[in-house]
Order: sequence, then C-alpha cells, then structure tokens
Amino acid sequence: MKAGIHPNYKRVMVKCACGNEFESGSVKDEVRVEICSECHPFYTGRQKFAKADGRVERFNKKYGIKN
Ligand SMILES: [Zn+2]
Repeated sequence: MKAGIHPNYKRVMVKCACGNEFESGSVKDEVRVEICSECHPFYTGRQKFAKADGRVERFNKKYGIKN
C-alpha cells in the first residue's frame, strides 16, 4: 500500500486493551488494538530505549501510512 491512495486518512485515537491511548492515523473512525508499544514486552521489558522512537511510526507502517 502507498500513502497517497488511502481514501479518508485522518487522525484518530487508538485505544489499546491495556488502557493506553495515543493518536495515530487511520482511515477508520476509531482504532482498537490488543497490544501497543506501552504494553508490548519488547518495549516494556528489554528495549525501553526504543519506546519513544517509532511507536506511531510502527503503527502507521502497519497500516501502510506515512506521516
Ligand atoms: Zn497497550
């Protein structure tokens, strides 16, 4: 997927099952995820230094969106 071809890209609040919310981009009105960078073991455990860098970027990448 490429960024330009998304029909209704907009900013939305992403809600995680852990309670964390953060803003990201999506074509949906609301986004719910079961795991995010705040509760994923990769970030909360071994690699805390990586948390600030790339959490939204990773999410956008998942949905094929570029900022
Ligand atoms: Zn979470």
